Amino acid sequence: MTNKQIKVILKSGKDEAVRRFHPWVFSGAIKKIEGVVFEGDIVEVYSNNNEFLGIGHYQDGSIMVRILSFNDQKIDDKFWIDRISEAYALRLSLKLENTNVFRLVNAEGDSLPGLIIDYFDGHLVIQCHSIGMFLSRDNILNSLQKVLKEKLKSVYDKSADNIVDKYPEQTNCYLYGASVNNIEVIENNNKFYIDREKGQKTGFFIDQRENRNLLSRYSQGKTVLNTFCYSGGFSVYALNAGAKSVVSVDSSAKAIELCNNNINLNSINNDLHKSVCEDTIEYLTNSNEEFDIIILDPPAYAKHVNARHNAVQGYKRLNTLAMNKIKKGGLLFTFSCSQVVNSQLFYNTIMSSAILSKRNVRVLHHLTQPADHPVNLFHPEGEYLKGLVLEIN
Ligand code: SAH
Repeated sequence: MTNKQIKVILKSGKDEAVRRFHPWVFSGAIKKIEGVVFEGDIVEVYSNNNEFLGIGHYQDGSIMVRILSFNDQKIDDKFWIDRISEAYALRLSLKLENTNVFRLVNAEGDSLPGLIIDYFDGHLVIQCHSIGMFLSRDNILNSLQKVLKEKLKSVYDKSADNIVDKYPEQTNCYLYGASVNNIEVIENNNKFYIDREKGQKTGFFIDQRENRNLLSRYSQGKTVLNTFCYSGGFSVYALNAGAKSVVSVDSSAKAIELCNNNINLNSINNDLHKSVCEDTIEYLTNSNEEFDIIILDPPAYAKHVNARHNAVQGYKRLNTLAMNKIKKGGLLFTFSCSQVVNSQLFYNTIMSSAILSKRNVRVLHHLTQPADHPVNLFHPEGEYLKGLVLEIN
Protein backbone atom coordinates (compact mmCIF):
# COMPACT_ATOMS: atom_id res chain seq x y z
CA MET A 1 0.00 0.00 0.00
CA THR A 2 1.39 3.41 -0.95
CA ASN A 3 0.79 6.98 0.14
CA LYS A 4 0.78 8.30 -3.42
CA GLN A 5 -2.40 10.01 -4.54
CA ILE A 6 -4.19 8.19 -7.32
CA LYS A 7 -7.28 9.82 -8.82
CA VAL A 8 -10.02 7.86 -10.55
CA ILE A 9 -12.12 10.25 -12.61
CA LEU A 10 -15.62 9.20 -13.61
CA LYS A 11 -17.34 9.89 -16.92
CA SER A 12 -19.89 12.64 -17.02
CA GLY A 13 -23.25 11.34 -15.70
CA LYS A 14 -21.66 8.17 -14.26
CA ASP A 15 -21.39 9.55 -10.71
CA GLU A 16 -25.01 9.09 -9.65
CA ALA A 17 -24.63 5.66 -8.06
CA VAL A 18 -21.66 6.79 -5.93
CA ARG A 19 -23.51 9.94 -4.90
CA ARG A 20 -26.32 7.65 -3.69
CA PHE A 21 -23.71 5.84 -1.57
CA HIS A 22 -23.52 2.71 -3.70
CA PRO A 23 -20.05 1.41 -2.77
CA TRP A 24 -18.99 -0.02 -6.16
CA VAL A 25 -17.49 1.82 -9.14
CA PHE A 26 -17.73 -0.24 -12.32
CA SER A 27 -15.08 -0.12 -15.03
CA GLY A 28 -17.56 1.36 -17.54
CA ALA A 29 -18.04 4.45 -15.34
CA ILE A 30 -14.35 5.38 -15.34
CA LYS A 31 -13.04 8.05 -17.71
CA LYS A 32 -9.39 7.99 -16.67
CA ILE A 33 -7.00 7.20 -13.85
CA GLU A 34 -4.32 9.74 -12.88
CA GLY A 35 -1.23 8.09 -11.41
CA VAL A 36 0.20 4.60 -11.59
CA VAL A 37 -2.22 2.22 -9.95
CA PHE A 38 -1.72 -1.32 -8.67
CA GLU A 39 -4.38 -3.73 -7.49
CA GLY A 40 -5.21 -3.13 -3.84
CA ASP A 41 -4.11 0.53 -3.90
CA ILE A 42 -6.14 3.20 -2.16
CA VAL A 43 -7.60 5.53 -4.80
CA GLU A 44 -9.71 8.69 -4.67
CA VAL A 45 -12.80 8.88 -6.85
CA TYR A 46 -13.77 12.19 -8.48
CA SER A 47 -16.64 13.26 -10.71
CA ASN A 48 -16.02 14.56 -14.21
CA ASN A 49 -16.21 18.06 -12.63
CA ASN A 50 -13.43 17.23 -10.19
CA GLU A 51 -15.67 16.87 -7.12
CA PHE A 52 -14.47 14.37 -4.49
CA LEU A 53 -16.89 11.42 -4.25
CA GLY A 54 -15.14 8.79 -2.19
CA ILE A 55 -12.01 6.82 -1.39
CA GLY A 56 -11.57 3.09 -1.76
CA HIS A 57 -9.67 0.02 -2.93
CA TYR A 58 -8.74 -0.37 -6.58
CA GLN A 59 -8.87 -3.72 -8.39
CA ASP A 60 -8.80 -4.77 -12.04
CA GLY A 61 -12.06 -6.28 -13.28
CA SER A 62 -15.65 -5.22 -13.54
CA ILE A 63 -15.86 -3.64 -10.05
CA MET A 64 -12.81 -1.36 -10.15
CA VAL A 65 -13.24 0.60 -6.92
CA ARG A 66 -14.83 -0.56 -3.68
CA ILE A 67 -15.55 2.59 -1.70
CA LEU A 68 -14.40 2.60 1.93
CA SER A 69 -15.51 6.14 2.74
CA PHE A 70 -17.60 8.83 1.08
CA ASN A 71 -15.77 11.41 3.23
CA ASP A 72 -12.44 12.92 2.28
CA GLN A 73 -10.49 11.11 4.99
CA LYS A 74 -7.32 9.08 5.38
CA ILE A 75 -7.57 5.29 5.38
CA ASP A 76 -5.32 5.01 8.43
CA ASP A 77 -5.32 3.16 11.77
CA LYS A 78 -8.11 5.38 13.06
CA PHE A 79 -10.29 4.54 10.06
CA TRP A 80 -9.90 0.78 10.61
CA ILE A 81 -10.40 0.95 14.38
CA ASP A 82 -13.50 3.14 13.96
CA ARG A 83 -15.08 0.84 11.39
CA ILE A 84 -14.40 -2.37 13.35
CA SER A 85 -15.59 -0.84 16.62
CA GLU A 86 -18.82 0.38 14.95
CA ALA A 87 -19.36 -3.12 13.60
CA TYR A 88 -18.79 -4.64 17.06
CA ALA A 89 -21.07 -2.09 18.72
CA LEU A 90 -23.93 -3.12 16.42
CA ARG A 91 -23.48 -6.79 17.36
CA LEU A 92 -23.44 -5.94 21.08
CA SER A 93 -26.61 -3.90 20.64
CA LEU A 94 -28.40 -7.00 19.31
CA LYS A 95 -28.15 -8.54 22.81
CA LEU A 96 -27.91 -12.07 21.43
CA GLU A 97 -28.74 -14.38 24.31
CA ASN A 98 -27.08 -17.73 24.98
CA THR A 99 -25.12 -17.19 21.79
CA ASN A 100 -21.42 -16.61 21.30
CA VAL A 101 -21.38 -16.84 17.50
CA PHE A 102 -22.08 -13.93 15.17
CA ARG A 103 -20.96 -12.21 12.00
CA LEU A 104 -18.75 -9.37 13.19
CA VAL A 105 -18.18 -7.71 9.81
CA ASN A 106 -20.55 -8.11 6.86
CA ALA A 107 -18.67 -6.43 4.00
CA GLU A 108 -20.70 -3.64 2.33
CA GLY A 109 -23.28 -3.90 5.14
CA ASP A 110 -20.59 -2.60 7.51
CA SER A 111 -19.02 -0.19 5.00
CA LEU A 112 -16.06 -2.55 4.60
CA PRO A 113 -16.57 -3.90 1.06
CA GLY A 114 -14.79 -7.19 0.47
CA LEU A 115 -14.35 -8.12 4.15
CA ILE A 116 -16.17 -10.83 6.07
CA ILE A 117 -15.34 -11.65 9.70
CA ASP A 118 -17.16 -14.32 11.69
CA TYR A 119 -16.82 -14.54 15.48
CA PHE A 120 -16.83 -17.92 17.21
CA ASP A 121 -16.45 -17.28 20.94
CA GLY A 122 -13.40 -15.05 20.34
CA HIS A 123 -11.96 -17.27 17.59
CA LEU A 124 -12.29 -15.39 14.32
CA VAL A 125 -12.31 -16.28 10.66
CA ILE A 126 -11.58 -13.51 8.20
CA GLN A 127 -12.26 -13.75 4.49
CA CYS A 128 -10.93 -11.06 2.17
CA HIS A 129 -12.79 -10.96 -1.12
CA SER A 130 -10.69 -8.14 -2.60
CA ILE A 131 -6.96 -7.55 -3.01
CA GLY A 132 -7.30 -4.27 -1.09
CA MET A 133 -8.70 -6.05 1.96
CA PHE A 134 -6.10 -8.79 1.65
CA LEU A 135 -3.32 -6.20 1.71
CA SER A 136 -4.97 -4.52 4.73
CA ARG A 137 -4.81 -7.58 6.96
CA ASP A 138 -2.27 -5.98 9.33
CA ASN A 139 -4.57 -2.99 9.87
CA ILE A 140 -7.55 -5.30 10.31
CA LEU A 141 -5.74 -7.49 12.86
CA ASN A 142 -4.46 -4.45 14.75
CA SER A 143 -8.03 -3.05 14.96
CA LEU A 144 -9.46 -6.38 16.08
CA GLN A 145 -6.91 -6.50 18.91
CA LYS A 146 -7.73 -2.92 19.97
CA VAL A 147 -11.50 -3.40 19.78
CA LEU A 148 -11.97 -6.93 21.12
CA LYS A 149 -9.07 -6.74 23.61
CA GLU A 150 -8.85 -9.88 25.79
CA LYS A 151 -11.90 -11.38 24.07
CA LEU A 152 -9.80 -12.01 20.95
CA LYS A 153 -8.39 -15.55 21.09
CA SER A 154 -7.32 -16.33 17.52
CA VAL A 155 -7.67 -15.15 13.92
CA TYR A 156 -7.69 -17.56 10.98
CA ASP A 157 -7.38 -16.01 7.53
CA LYS A 158 -9.36 -17.97 4.95
CA SER A 159 -8.82 -15.70 1.95
CA ALA A 160 -6.58 -17.87 -0.24
CA ASP A 161 -9.31 -19.05 -2.64
CA ASN A 162 -10.53 -15.50 -3.25
CA ILE A 163 -7.18 -14.01 -4.22
CA VAL A 164 -5.65 -17.02 -5.98
CA ASP A 165 -5.43 -15.22 -9.36
CA LYS A 166 -3.00 -12.66 -7.98
CA TYR A 167 -1.44 -14.63 -5.12
CA PRO A 168 -1.41 -18.30 -6.23
CA GLU A 169 1.04 -19.28 -3.49
CA GLN A 170 -1.07 -17.88 -0.65
CA THR A 171 -2.49 -20.46 1.77
CA ASN A 172 -5.04 -20.07 4.52
CA CYS A 173 -3.21 -19.32 7.76
CA TYR A 174 -3.46 -18.15 11.36
CA LEU A 175 -2.76 -14.43 11.74
CA TYR A 176 -3.01 -14.51 15.52
CA GLY A 177 -3.22 -17.02 18.34
CA ALA A 178 -2.91 -20.76 18.38
CA SER A 179 -4.28 -23.03 15.71
CA VAL A 180 -7.46 -24.15 17.42
CA ASN A 181 -9.88 -26.33 15.56
CA ASN A 182 -13.23 -27.79 16.60
CA ILE A 183 -14.14 -24.72 18.61
CA GLU A 184 -17.19 -25.39 20.76
CA VAL A 185 -19.79 -22.62 20.62
CA ILE A 186 -23.41 -22.06 21.62
CA GLU A 187 -26.20 -20.56 19.56
CA ASN A 188 -29.54 -20.05 21.30
CA ASN A 189 -28.40 -22.71 23.78
CA ASN A 190 -27.66 -25.25 21.04
CA LYS A 191 -24.06 -26.47 20.94
CA PHE A 192 -21.92 -26.72 17.81
CA TYR A 193 -18.34 -27.55 16.88
CA ILE A 194 -16.83 -25.16 14.36
CA ASP A 195 -14.18 -26.50 12.00
CA ARG A 196 -12.63 -23.31 10.61
CA GLU A 197 -9.93 -25.03 8.60
CA LYS A 198 -11.85 -27.77 6.82
CA GLY A 199 -15.42 -26.47 7.09
CA GLN A 200 -17.26 -24.76 4.22
CA LYS A 201 -17.07 -20.95 3.93
CA THR A 202 -16.09 -19.61 7.37
CA GLY A 203 -17.01 -22.93 9.01
CA PHE A 204 -20.63 -22.27 10.00
CA PHE A 205 -23.72 -20.74 8.38
CA ILE A 206 -24.47 -18.10 10.99
CA ASP A 207 -27.00 -16.44 8.67
CA GLN A 208 -29.62 -19.12 9.45
CA ARG A 209 -29.60 -18.51 13.23
CA GLU A 210 -33.03 -16.85 13.55
CA ASN A 211 -34.57 -19.27 11.04
CA ARG A 212 -33.24 -22.26 12.96
CA ASN A 213 -34.76 -20.72 16.09
CA LEU A 214 -38.11 -20.40 14.33
CA LEU A 215 -37.95 -24.09 13.38
CA SER A 216 -37.52 -25.03 17.03
CA ARG A 217 -40.90 -23.41 17.82
CA TYR A 218 -42.64 -25.83 15.43
CA SER A 219 -40.59 -28.98 16.07
CA GLN A 220 -42.00 -30.65 19.17
CA GLY A 221 -43.25 -34.16 18.39
CA LYS A 222 -42.66 -33.70 14.67
CA THR A 223 -40.85 -35.79 12.05
CA VAL A 224 -38.32 -33.57 10.28
CA LEU A 225 -36.27 -33.89 7.08
CA ASN A 226 -33.32 -31.48 6.98
CA THR A 227 -31.82 -31.47 3.49
CA PHE A 228 -28.53 -29.71 2.60
CA CYS A 229 -27.92 -30.07 6.34
CA TYR A 230 -24.19 -29.18 6.40
CA SER A 231 -23.17 -29.22 10.09
CA GLY A 232 -26.71 -30.06 11.18
CA GLY A 233 -27.82 -26.63 12.38
CA PHE A 234 -31.53 -27.15 11.76
CA SER A 235 -31.33 -30.80 12.91
CA VAL A 236 -29.83 -29.92 16.30
CA TYR A 237 -32.39 -27.16 16.92
CA ALA A 238 -35.28 -29.46 15.99
CA LEU A 239 -34.10 -32.33 18.20
CA ASN A 240 -33.27 -30.08 21.15
CA ALA A 241 -36.81 -28.71 20.82
CA GLY A 242 -38.34 -32.19 21.09
CA ALA A 243 -38.70 -33.37 17.49
CA LYS A 244 -39.86 -37.00 17.25
CA SER A 245 -37.18 -37.83 14.66
CA VAL A 246 -34.88 -36.06 12.22
CA VAL A 247 -33.29 -37.21 8.97
CA SER A 248 -30.30 -35.09 7.85
CA VAL A 249 -29.22 -35.25 4.20
CA ASP A 250 -26.08 -33.82 2.58
CA SER A 251 -24.04 -34.92 -0.44
CA SER A 252 -20.76 -34.17 1.39
CA ALA A 253 -19.34 -36.89 3.64
CA LYS A 254 -17.46 -34.24 5.64
CA ALA A 255 -20.74 -32.38 6.26
CA ILE A 256 -22.41 -35.57 7.48
CA GLU A 257 -19.49 -36.17 9.84
CA LEU A 258 -19.82 -32.63 11.23
CA CYS A 259 -23.57 -33.12 11.60
CA ASN A 260 -23.16 -36.42 13.50
CA ASN A 261 -20.56 -34.83 15.79
CA ASN A 262 -22.95 -31.99 16.60
CA ILE A 263 -25.78 -34.41 17.37
CA ASN A 264 -23.47 -36.17 19.83
CA LEU A 265 -22.21 -32.89 21.30
CA ASN A 266 -25.82 -32.09 22.28
CA SER A 267 -26.22 -35.53 23.92
CA ILE A 268 -29.12 -36.30 21.59
CA ASN A 269 -30.30 -39.92 21.54
CA ASN A 270 -28.88 -41.34 18.29
CA ASP A 271 -32.07 -43.37 17.74
CA LEU A 272 -33.88 -40.10 17.00
CA HIS A 273 -31.47 -39.07 14.25
CA LYS A 274 -30.48 -40.58 10.93
CA SER A 275 -27.93 -39.02 8.58
CA VAL A 276 -27.79 -39.80 4.89
CA CYS A 277 -24.91 -38.90 2.56
CA GLU A 278 -26.81 -38.46 -0.71
CA ASP A 279 -27.90 -35.93 -3.30
CA THR A 280 -31.12 -34.29 -2.07
CA ILE A 281 -33.00 -34.71 -5.36
CA GLU A 282 -32.12 -38.42 -5.39
CA TYR A 283 -33.11 -38.81 -1.77
CA LEU A 284 -36.47 -37.11 -2.31
CA THR A 285 -37.10 -39.07 -5.49
CA ASN A 286 -36.29 -42.47 -4.00
CA SER A 287 -37.71 -42.17 -0.49
CA ASN A 288 -41.36 -43.06 0.19
CA GLU A 289 -41.31 -41.47 3.62
CA GLU A 290 -43.47 -38.44 4.40
CA PHE A 291 -42.53 -35.79 6.97
CA ASP A 292 -44.25 -33.18 9.12
CA ILE A 293 -41.54 -30.64 8.32
CA ILE A 294 -38.98 -30.42 5.50
CA ILE A 295 -36.10 -27.91 5.31
CA LEU A 296 -34.59 -27.06 1.93
CA ASP A 297 -31.45 -24.92 2.25
CA PRO A 298 -29.48 -25.53 -0.95
CA PRO A 299 -26.23 -23.78 -1.87
CA ALA A 300 -26.56 -20.83 -4.29
CA TYR A 301 -27.92 -22.34 -7.52
CA ALA A 302 -26.95 -19.19 -9.46
CA LYS A 303 -23.78 -17.20 -8.82
CA HIS A 304 -24.37 -14.97 -11.85
CA VAL A 305 -27.40 -13.60 -13.75
CA ASN A 306 -26.54 -15.84 -16.72
CA ALA A 307 -27.30 -18.84 -14.54
CA ARG A 308 -30.56 -17.42 -13.18
CA HIS A 309 -32.94 -19.27 -15.51
CA ASN A 310 -31.43 -22.67 -14.73
CA ALA A 311 -31.38 -21.83 -11.03
CA VAL A 312 -35.10 -21.06 -11.06
CA GLN A 313 -35.80 -24.37 -12.79
CA GLY A 314 -33.68 -26.10 -10.11
CA TYR A 315 -35.56 -24.45 -7.22
CA LYS A 316 -38.89 -25.31 -8.86
CA ARG A 317 -38.04 -28.98 -9.23
CA LEU A 318 -36.61 -29.27 -5.72
CA ASN A 319 -39.56 -27.55 -4.05
CA THR A 320 -42.14 -29.54 -6.03
CA LEU A 321 -40.51 -32.79 -4.95
CA ALA A 322 -40.39 -31.67 -1.31
CA MET A 323 -44.00 -30.47 -1.23
CA ASN A 324 -45.10 -33.94 -2.29
CA LYS A 325 -43.29 -35.49 0.69
CA ILE A 326 -45.01 -33.35 3.32
CA LYS A 327 -47.95 -34.65 5.34
CA LYS A 328 -51.19 -32.68 5.16
CA GLY A 329 -50.85 -29.60 7.36
CA GLY A 330 -47.07 -29.97 7.49
CA LEU A 331 -44.49 -27.26 6.94
CA LEU A 332 -41.86 -26.50 4.33
CA PHE A 333 -38.96 -24.23 5.32
CA THR A 334 -37.53 -23.28 1.94
CA PHE A 335 -34.57 -21.01 1.22
CA SER A 336 -32.50 -19.51 -1.56
CA CYS A 337 -29.16 -17.82 -1.00
CA SER A 338 -28.68 -16.93 -4.70
CA GLN A 339 -28.18 -13.19 -4.74
CA VAL A 340 -29.44 -12.94 -8.35
CA VAL A 341 -32.77 -14.60 -7.46
CA ASN A 342 -34.60 -11.82 -5.64
CA SER A 343 -37.42 -12.39 -3.17
CA GLN A 344 -40.19 -11.78 -5.73
CA LEU A 345 -38.67 -14.23 -8.21
CA PHE A 346 -38.19 -16.78 -5.42
CA TYR A 347 -41.82 -16.34 -4.33
CA ASN A 348 -43.08 -16.80 -7.90
CA THR A 349 -40.91 -19.89 -8.30
CA ILE A 350 -42.37 -21.41 -5.15
CA MET A 351 -45.84 -20.62 -6.43
CA SER A 352 -45.04 -22.60 -9.61
CA SER A 353 -43.90 -25.51 -7.43
CA ALA A 354 -47.16 -25.40 -5.48
CA ILE A 355 -49.16 -25.43 -8.72
CA LEU A 356 -47.14 -28.38 -10.05
CA SER A 357 -47.46 -30.31 -6.79
CA LYS A 358 -51.24 -29.69 -6.74
CA ARG A 359 -51.02 -28.86 -3.02
CA ASN A 360 -52.91 -26.01 -1.37
CA VAL A 361 -50.30 -23.81 0.30
CA ARG A 362 -50.35 -20.94 2.79
CA VAL A 363 -47.41 -18.63 3.53
CA LEU A 364 -46.74 -18.38 7.27
CA HIS A 365 -43.41 -16.54 7.37
CA HIS A 366 -41.15 -14.53 5.08
CA LEU A 367 -37.56 -15.04 6.22
CA THR A 368 -34.24 -13.36 5.55
CA GLN A 369 -30.77 -12.92 7.02
CA PRO A 370 -30.39 -11.68 10.63
CA ALA A 371 -29.27 -8.24 11.81
CA ASP A 372 -25.62 -9.24 12.21
CA HIS A 373 -25.72 -9.57 8.39
CA PRO A 374 -26.93 -5.98 7.82
CA VAL A 375 -27.67 -4.76 4.30
CA ASN A 376 -26.59 -1.32 3.13
CA LEU A 377 -29.85 0.10 1.76
CA PHE A 378 -27.95 1.55 -1.20
CA HIS A 379 -26.37 -1.83 -1.96
CA PRO A 380 -29.35 -4.15 -2.44
CA GLU A 381 -26.96 -6.81 -3.76
CA GLY A 382 -26.11 -7.43 -0.09
CA GLU A 383 -29.50 -9.00 0.59
CA TYR A 384 -29.04 -12.59 -0.46
CA LEU A 385 -30.92 -14.91 1.90
CA LYS A 386 -34.65 -15.43 1.27
CA GLY A 387 -36.88 -17.95 2.90
CA LEU A 388 -40.53 -18.91 3.20
CA VAL A 389 -42.31 -21.09 5.73
CA LEU A 390 -45.25 -22.71 3.98
CA GLU A 391 -48.10 -24.75 5.35
CA ILE A 392 -48.80 -27.54 2.89
CA ASN A 393 -52.36 -28.84 2.70
N1 SAH B 1 -28.51 -25.53 6.27
C1 SAH B 1 -27.11 -25.51 6.57
C2 SAH B 1 -26.28 -24.83 5.52
C3 SAH B 1 -26.39 -25.44 4.12
S1 SAH B 1 -25.05 -25.10 3.10
C4 SAH B 1 -26.89 -24.88 7.95
O1 SAH B 1 -27.85 -24.40 8.59
O2 SAH B 1 -25.76 -24.84 8.41
C5 SAH B 1 -25.40 -26.12 1.73
C6 SAH B 1 -25.05 -27.60 1.92
O3 SAH B 1 -25.58 -28.30 0.79
C7 SAH B 1 -23.57 -27.95 1.94
O4 SAH B 1 -23.30 -28.67 3.12
C8 SAH B 1 -23.34 -28.84 0.73
O5 SAH B 1 -22.43 -29.92 1.00
C9 SAH B 1 -24.72 -29.37 0.48
N2 SAH B 1 -25.03 -29.80 -0.88
C10 SAH B 1 -24.67 -29.20 -2.05
N3 SAH B 1 -25.25 -29.82 -3.10
C11 SAH B 1 -26.01 -30.82 -2.59
C12 SAH B 1 -26.87 -31.79 -3.16
N4 SAH B 1 -27.07 -31.84 -4.47
N5 SAH B 1 -27.52 -32.65 -2.34
C13 SAH B 1 -27.32 -32.61 -1.00
N6 SAH B 1 -26.50 -31.70 -0.40
C14 SAH B 1 -25.87 -30.81 -1.18
